[in-house]
Amino acid sequence: MISIDDIINKVREYDPDANMKIIKDAYEFTSIAHAGTKRLSGEDYTQHSLATAFNLTKLRLDVPIIAAGLLHDVPEDTSYTLEEIRKKFGKEITKLVEGITKLGTLKYRGFERYAENLRKMFMAMAEDIRVILIKFADRMHNLETLEYIRPDKRRRIALETLEIYAPIANRLGMGEIKGQLEDLAFPYVYPKEYTWIKKIAEGKLKIEKKYIEKIKKTVEKMLIQEKIEYLSVHGRIKRLYSLYKKILQRDRDIDKVYDFIALRIIVKNIADCYRVLGIIHKKWTPLKGRIKDYIAQPKPNRYQSLHTTVFAERGKIVELQIRDLQMHQLAEYGIATHWRYKEADRKRMTKERTVWIKNLLELQKKVQDYKKYLSEIKIDVFQNRIFVFTPKGDVIDLPEHSTPIDFAYHIHTDIGNKCTGALINEEIAPLDAPLKSGDVVEILTSKNRQKPNVDWLNFIRTNVAREKIKNALKEPEDNKTPKST
Ligand code: MN
Repeated sequence: MISIDDIINKVREYDPDANMKIIKDAYEFTSIAHAGTKRLSGEDYTQHSLATAFNLTKLRLDVPIIAAGLLHDVPEDTSYTLEEIRKKFGKEITKLVEGITKLGTLKYRGFERYAENLRKMFMAMAEDIRVILIKFADRMHNLETLEYIRPDKRRRIALETLEIYAPIANRLGMGEIKGQLEDLAFPYVYPKEYTWIKKIAEGKLKIEKKYIEKIKKTVEKMLIQEKIEYLSVHGRIKRLYSLYKKILQRDRDIDKVYDFIALRIIVKNIADCYRVLGIIHKKWTPLKGRIKDYIAQPKPNRYQSLHTTVFAERGKIVELQIRDLQMHQLAEYGIATHWRYKEADRKRMTKERTVWIKNLLELQKKVQDYKKYLSEIKIDVFQNRIFVFTPKGDVIDLPEHSTPIDFAYHIHTDIGNKCTGALINEEIAPLDAPLKSGDVVEILTSKNRQKPNVDWLNFIRTNVAREKIKNALKEPEDNKTPKST
């Protein structure tokens, strides 16, 4: 049971000057509005409002979001209206509640309605990204109480969590939220697989725990010897759903999942991150090709850390992740951490992180057919992203299995249209070669104006490339003024 005092105490921890009166008022309003109604779990409805708001305090969010979290189900489930909320709480909080109400529930009832619901969701997110944070907090409590829901509905909610909300959390850089959502939904979507993986993980943990403790002590000793101050050294155990996905790629063999337990080292600054890496490599030999510098080259969702996998004591393979505190918080809470900054910084950071949502809305204006729209969204948002580099080191963020042609069109229309060949990591590669994260791609172009090859349409992955190729093919040959983006 969560009480309003739990919420206020939590807010006080990270924001002592917060206006608690607003939170108390929102609580009072919501408990009157929902009075007498129960959840299927038998709890008072207000418990759900409190749980949602409490989840938001874990993200250290500000008062308007917490208040909106308390009020989020009022217009939909009670006789109180948005207008009444507006009178009492003003514009900002009301807009957030309105956003959540508009989202409603995504329903898999027919593709057309589903596409329409998704579209609404992205519009609400584009207007105010905080809406989706409230949705995550709300969804988390719904998942925690999912056992009281009808089985068919249960599966739908869980599946939607895996397919839609978790990938969105991931794109917003919220690793912790993504992981929690996935693990809460996992047993309802894949019950057998869940039982299987849980057993494997428990068995493996028993064997590995002592070993990783030893490695942890060794690392701590080295850090002290080298006079590097650290905030934490701890073993992080891979979450079950993420382990499940990984083990399927590794012949279902847990011994081939090197990061089942990774040792996480959190230090004070970037320079220390690299020093730690050096110390580790001096002591233990790294595995070839497994050193990843996500500090110099962050992931598309801005994740930063150094990763390395080494042959540690007795030749056992261990993954280590090294980061500073800011990177750690960003990796866990992503966009939610922006609310800790000044307004101007927050706005800029949020804007940078949500460009893809604006692009999606643009896309939807162009793509009228809802089936096509859905398949594009699936590729652009819900598929794994890779990041590849231009020869100058710029990062291009693409969906998995993208090809050099996709890459070329993402740089510039003309580069795509004039593409004649590609070098991947300085070697000639076919134009339909699937790119991998970290590849450096150089596009060879012809000096002459040329048209894209119609065959490219058979293997490209991105909507951007498809639209541009089609446009170029439509242009008459004698058109002397090339169109670019
Ligand atoms: Mn709710």
